Amino acid sequence: MCGKLYVVATPIGNLADFSYRAIETLKNVDLIAAEDTRHVKMLLQHYAINNQLISLHQHNEEKVAPGLIDKIKQGLSVALVSDAGTPLLSDPGMPLVKLAKQEGVEVSPIPGACALIAALSVSGLSVTKFVFEGFLPRTSSARKSFFTTKKNETLTWVFYESSHRIVASLEDLAEVLPADRKIVVARELTKIYETVVNDSLGAVLEQVKIEPNMQKGEFVVLVDGAVVEKKADTITEEQERVLLILLKQCSIKSAVGMAVEITKARKKVLYQAALDLKNKEAE
Ligand code: SAM
Repeated sequence: MCGKLYVVATPIGNLADFSYRAIETLKNVDLIAAEDTRHVKMLLQHYAINNQLISLHQHNEEKVAPGLIDKIKQGLSVALVSDAGTPLLSDPGMPLVKLAKQEGVEVSPIPGACALIAALSVSGLSVTKFVFEGFLPRTSSARKSFFTTKKNETLTWVFYESSHRIVASLEDLAEVLPADRKIVVARELTKIYETVVNDSLGAVLEQVKIEPNMQKGEFVVLVDGAVVEKKADTITEEQERVLLILLKQCSIKSAVGMAVEITKARKKVLYQAALDLKNKEAE
């Protein structure tokens, strides 16, 4: 008897980015739970979808979720949509999906647009692994503290930003990260004024500050991971000389222990070098 909960992605700007399956699903479900019913009506009208709407947003979702899950358990199918993009990604929906899972209700995705994924796909930065940070803290001091924790992040990291804070956020970022760190600002993706700027943090900040248009719209900011210098895994000639003398007098373990004290080289590296020297001697 149990119905189903569909999590449906909607376009992030360009209405044509709406999948056939998403339209069919929104037409066929019993109920659409929408972040902003007035906003979603425009999209639904565009695709001639006349279906019952219920409001589910940040401030009522905890309250609304149990009733919706009851309806699904009674056999109704419900679609969850947010204002744009994929629900739950910096958008409402988590309590509903969590409860559905707890109650054994089937949850099915209708995938589509997501600003995060769209921005990553055109960023030119490494996307093999990445970290999504959502929206940043609102105050400058909290943002700078946050950026300090991200200074040595080696993966590409991404955050969402609004037109109100894009300059302030980039300024804070520039106070913490080196000016030559590569960043990407992806603005108004899929819309008329879509702009993707790839450059050093210093250059991007400059551009965003001097071009008023670069401060308008919606933004995804992507930051290249920090390059961590690899510690040397070879020993110097002098370290080798010390190690050789010690190896003549004592066991590998003791020789390495003393060599660490004398040369300050890493134990692991000295140990490997000691094994190599011993093997060479045996040949
Ligand atoms: N759930 C949405 C998604 O899947 O992308 C994100 C919703 S979040 C409330 C809205 C934020 O996403 C915006 O402030 C902006 O940072 C980013 N965003 C949404 N649409 C965008 C677009 N067309 N271009 C760039 N960023 C966008």
